[in-house]
Amino acid sequence: MALSIPFHNTYATLPERLFARLAPTKVRAPRLLQVNTGLAEELGLDPAALASPEGVEILAGNRVPAGADPVAQAYAGHQFGQFNPQLGDGRAVLLGELIAADGAPRDLQLKGSGPTPWSRGGDGRAAIGPVLREYLISEAMHALGIPTTRALAAVATGEEIFRDEPQPGAVLTRIARSHLRVGTFAYFAARQDTDALQVLVDYALARHYPQAEGALGLLAAVTARQADLVAQWMLVGFIHGVMNTDNTAISGETIDYGPCAFMDQYHPDTVFSSIDRGGRYRYGHQPRIIQWNLARLAEALLPLIAPDPDVAVEQAQAVLAGFADRFNAAWLGGLGRKLGLSVAQEGDRELILDLLALMAETEADFTQTFRALTAAAVQADAAPAALVAWLPRWQARLAAEPMPPAVRQAGMAAANPAVIPRNHLVEEALAAAAAGDMQPFEALLAVLRRPYETPADLRYTLPPPAGQGPYRTFCGT
Ligand code: AMP
Ligand code: MG
Repeated sequence: MALSIPFHNTYATLPERLFARLAPTKVRAPRLLQVNTGLAEELGLDPAALASPEGVEILAGNRVPAGADPVAQAYAGHQFGQFNPQLGDGRAVLLGELIAADGAPRDLQLKGSGPTPWSRGGDGRAAIGPVLREYLISEAMHALGIPTTRALAAVATGEEIFRDEPQPGAVLTRIARSHLRVGTFAYFAARQDTDALQVLVDYALARHYPQAEGALGLLAAVTARQADLVAQWMLVGFIHGVMNTDNTAISGETIDYGPCAFMDQYHPDTVFSSIDRGGRYRYGHQPRIIQWNLARLAEALLPLIAPDPDVAVEQAQAVLAGFADRFNAAWLGGLGRKLGLSVAQEGDRELILDLLALMAETEADFTQTFRALTAAAVQADAAPAALVAWLPRWQARLAAEPMPPAVRQAGMAAANPAVIPRNHLVEEALAAAAAGDMQPFEALLAVLRRPYETPADLRYTLPPPAGQGPYRTFCGT
């Protein structure tokens, strides 16, 4: 069946200095690794057509589908605090936009699709391991209810790419509400291109925040979305790992799954990324980093906020100051739901902070602890023994709750996942996939699609076996 994709190309109609127009680079022998049937349907695409030889040619970048107008986007970014004025899509092309079932547009982007003017000496390619890792973890985040880019498909290229050692290449089809980043604005601010900034502000508002107005309205909207997003990361133990401003989306979606990972044992200083030696992007630092990134967005927008720079700074600071309340409400409310607290009370914050401190001290598994507390909502002896010093306070606090225990437990079960992408299981699935066996990947993905249900195979809920040593992640470039 012929594949017809009803592309819109709104980004490609913006001024030419926002992007480079180019087609993906062809690959030798495309082979489908995975296609996301449910997502395809949400996008109005026929999954069988995507999986057909013609579809795979498109997903590999070997054929530009009718109606597409492929571009690589320009952006800059603060990487570990250092401004790089020239990043851009070095290994990705945006084929165009599709209108999803919810009526909102989505970008369809090929990642690992060959060099672009922004490749800076890189090969423009991606390896199969990182591509499947992004597929798995971004879909897990979506199933957890956390805003994220998504994975529509992964194809192997039949070509080897060279990293530390030769690896099979792959292309990921990434779906995003847009690929606008904080760094997109910084790129044009660094060039004092106020006209381009205005175009971007108008475009971002129309696409993401139609109810907001002007650059200040955009800043406020992004600040609110990012506060909510990072609070949600914190509530499931997600560590992004490389929160550079080029990896901070204007849409408020989680983007760029390089060195990210979920925490097993709770500790606020947890870092997985091998390149994050100073721990800049450690778990407990994420709220402060996102504020720093939002300040970089504010800086880029200043010339559009008010003609008088002092006034602009003052107005931007007032908006940024709203982050703390928004984040705290989302974080505290979320932890309240995790603990079965439906009405906020004086002292809840201390109760929560003391629990977390005790969890850190006792090296508690983050996910399992909250799941055990969920069970303890109806069956007191299910509570983790390590929390014995804290449990009576929680139980006393629950006595002030209006909900019957069974209702409380159902609410907690919907806030505390049984399954997260456990690092050791992700590695196992990727190793099998690299050896040609997609079964462990598919089995893990199926369980991750229902994270709030206890799976039949309890292995998926368990922390890594003792003695595995610290987990390390890599950027996957
Ligand atoms: P990331 O670490 O994925 O956020 O990428 C940072 C920058 O490096 C972006 O401009 C990417 O497009 C670029 N980049 C990453 N990997 C490659 C690659 N293999 N070839 C060319 N550019 C790359
Ligand atoms: Mg990136």
